Amino acid sequence: MSYVIPIWTPPALPVVGASDIFPVRRIFCVGRNYVEHQKEMGASGREQPFFFIKSEHALVPNGGEVHYPAKTSNYHYETELVVAIGKGGRRIPAAKATEYVYGYAVGLDMTRRDLQQVGKDHGRPWDFGKNFDEAAPCSALVPAAKIGHPAKGAIWLQVNGKERQKADLADMIWSVPEQIAYLSDYYTLEAGDVIFAGTPAGVGPVKPGDELHAHIDGVGDLKVKVVPAL
Ligand code: MN
Repeated sequence: MSYVIPIWTPPALPVVGASDIFPVRRIFCVGRNYVEHQKEMGASGREQPFFFIKSEHALVPNGGEVHYPAKTSNYHYETELVVAIGKGGRRIPAAKATEYVYGYAVGLDMTRRDLQQVGKDHGRPWDFGKNFDEAAPCSALVPAAKIGHPAKGAIWLQVNGKERQKADLADMIWSVPEQIAYLSDYYTLEAGDVIFAGTPAGVGPVKPGDELHAHIDGVGDLKVKVVPAL
C-alpha cells in the first residue's frame, strides 16, 4: 500500500549526546501554572489544571529563525519546561509519573495573544491564538537517565540580552508528576507526547529582529530569532 500524496516524516527533537532523535506525537500545554503568571493573566487560587494542544507540526526543533506569524499584532513568548513522554499509559499515579518520562527540554509556547483574547472574550477555542505555524520552538531533549527529574532550578528568558522572565521550577502550581497524572485521567498518553509545563510571569511581545534566549538550569538553552513574516 502506498499513499496518494507524499507522506511526511514525523516531527522530532534531537537528543543531547545521541545521534538518534525523538519523534513527537502530540504537544500538550498547561495554562496558568505559576502563581505570578496566573496573577498577570487575571486569575488566582489553585484552580484545576487545564490544557490545550498544539499540533506537533508547530514544532521548531532546536529553535533558530522563527517567522512573525500571520494575523497578529501581539506575538508573545512564554518560556516553559518541556517534558517528553517515553512510555504510554493511562490513569498514571503522580507517585509513578516520572517512570513515564524520557527527558526534558526548554520550549517556547509562542502565542498570538490578541487572537487568544478573542477566543477568551467569546468563549471560543484558543487554537488560533496558540496553535499556528512555528508556535513551538524547542531545544534538544536531555534524557532523564542523565539529569534525573528537575523539580527546582532557575528558568529564565532574555530578549535582546535583557531579562524578561525569571522564576524557579519549584514555583509551579501543578508539578510535572501531577500534570502527567491529571492528563492521563483524560487521555491515553503515548510515547512521543510532550508536555509544555507552563510559563512564569513576565510574558510579553516580540517583533522581527528580536533575539530570544531561554534557559533552564540543568536542562539547556534555546535560542530563537524572530524574522519577518512569510
Ligand atoms: Mn504556556
